Amino acid sequence: MQPLIDNARTFGQRPEEFARLAEGQAPEVLFITCSDSRVVPALITGAGPGQLFELRTAGNIVPPYASERPTSEAATIEYAVEVLGVRDIVVCGHSHCGAVGALVRGDDLDAVPAVRDWLAHATPRPSGAAEDPEVAEGVQSHVLTQLLRLRSYPCVERRIAQGRLALHGWYYEVHTGAVRSHRPRTDTFEAL
Ligand SMILES: [Zn+2]
Repeated sequence: MQPLIDNARTFGQRPEEFARLAEGQAPEVLFITCSDSRVVPALITGAGPGQLFELRTAGNIVPPYASERPTSEAATIEYAVEVLGVRDIVVCGHSHCGAVGALVRGDDLDAVPAVRDWLAHATPRPSGAAEDPEVAEGVQSHVLTQLLRLRSYPCVERRIAQGRLALHGWYYEVHTGAVRSHRPRTDTFEAL
């Protein structure tokens, strides 16, 4: 923790770089990814302050849309789309994902009931080679499921129909730094 505190202590010593941020934000991209510490969206994309609106959840799961039961995730997505008017949404899964790995292997999660109940949102359950530590196949199919789930959000579907929003599925390799993008035409993940 101490190195993080030390950095935070000196971080704000460049006020001229940040002054314009007081005027507001106009990010063009909503970036949805896992909470995993090895995934650093700003590092991967080179985005600076104000460029990426982020939603991070365990296993980059987009929960089902249910207007009678608002969630933090739905609020974040709706705000990004309706208020900020983002033009693109990226769902970025990653290799060696603990959440997706647990789903693929069918791990017993009764000792962590909040995790178990959250991961229950991941339907259909991702499948793949349970012995593959990278869980590439499971994560990639899981990313596509989340893209479909996003389309069940009325604001997302409306903007897509208007040609004002595009969805992207990415797969990030934590062990190489490489990013693969889903190509709908071939239904494969290819190097960006
Ligand atoms: Zn993960």
